[in-house]
Amino acid sequence: MTKEQTAVIKQRYAAKLKNGYPLIEKSAFDQPFIDSLQEGTLLRLLDEKGAFLGKGYFGRQNKGVGWVLTRKQGEEIDRPFFQSRLKAAFDKRAALKADDQTTVFRLFNGEGDGIGGLTIDYYDRFYLCTWYSEGIYSFRKEVYEALQSIVTCKGIYEKKRFSAKGQYVEDDDFVSGERGEFPLLVKENGMTFAVYLNDGPMTGVFLDQRDVRKRIRDHYADGKDVLNTFSYTGAFSVAAALGGARKTTSVDLAKRSLPKTIEQFSVNQIDYEAQDIVVIDVFQYFSYARKKGKTFDLVILDPPSFARSKKRTFSAQKDYTGLLQEAIALTRKNGLIVASTNCSLFSMKKFHSFIREAFSREGVSYELMEQYSLPDDFRTTKAFPEGDYLKVVFLKRLS
Ligand code: SAH
Repeated sequence: MTKEQTAVIKQRYAAKLKNGYPLIEKSAFDQPFIDSLQEGTLLRLLDEKGAFLGKGYFGRQNKGVGWVLTRKQGEEIDRPFFQSRLKAAFDKRAALKADDQTTVFRLFNGEGDGIGGLTIDYYDRFYLCTWYSEGIYSFRKEVYEALQSIVTCKGIYEKKRFSAKGQYVEDDDFVSGERGEFPLLVKENGMTFAVYLNDGPMTGVFLDQRDVRKRIRDHYADGKDVLNTFSYTGAFSVAAALGGARKTTSVDLAKRSLPKTIEQFSVNQIDYEAQDIVVIDVFQYFSYARKKGKTFDLVILDPPSFARSKKRTFSAQKDYTGLLQEAIALTRKNGLIVASTNCSLFSMKKFHSFIREAFSREGVSYELMEQYSLPDDFRTTKAFPEGDYLKVVFLKRLS
């Protein structure tokens, strides 16, 4: 039985919680109280006057120390609770589930679906649960029972991203059912991706870019020379090549990106030898390309929020403007830049200010073509705007 205890929230934070904010912030309590709590403890949250605010769990995460689970006094946090939350979330994805061209998507998105700290992704009849704290992981049994009571799982895998930094805990990620044979070939809008559910923190494809990949393939790639930076397994390059790109160039620092990108091209019957795959620091590639006078019709920028390489650290918040300047210099007139960031530390508005600044520094004009945030299956809640982290802007270089 999970322990339950009363927790009095400081006034300022109580006001936020009353307005629907789902995250229990660290500063809502005194440190000694936090230190006394055990991961997974259920907290009966009260304001300083003793009024009931909700029930949540304690779990240390990169953000906050837990999440509100219910605002109903009488609601128990038990298997039926998880079952109803999961069922409601899965029902909302019915259209994706029915689409035979897409067999990979998010089924449950943390606080957007009512349980912060837990996501569930669907990979062609396999279910991948990601647990963001030991606290939420202590409800594992109830959640897996709830999951299996709603759907027939071929197999279940999990990722543990505990600790303050959300770091991945190395483990055998297989939970139950059948073990998959990897790579598992999944489909997204008719494209194929080779994924691995038991090989480190990432699977080979980032599911939140589905709409952007489709848009690039269907509208922006035909006949184009494409540069895909921070390319990882080359998912954007695959989309561009399938959309008729003349040639794609994928640039990533990680050595594994070469075989991974070859694999993604190959499972889509694209001749990888006709594409360029370059293992190098993006900034080094930019100087090389400038020296050689290389230019592109379409440049994709999708850096991590933060990365440390041998030569430098990259922080999206500090360095995106500079990154864009480099990209602008390599983009042909009337060419397109797809600028993407998953950094939750700044808003779309701020992102636009980086973009304006970069073009202005380069003395180049541009047109905003379209922009994207998270797709529908990555449900967010207005009460927690930080959860809506993805920002993707399509920019046409005019001069
Ligand atoms: N755009 C990718 C996801 C990017 S993940 C996709 O859509 O699938 C971030 C990638 O950036 C990682 O593969 C990492 O190896 C790479 N990376 C980080 N710093 C880099 C740098 N300085 N130069 C090149 N690649 C870098």
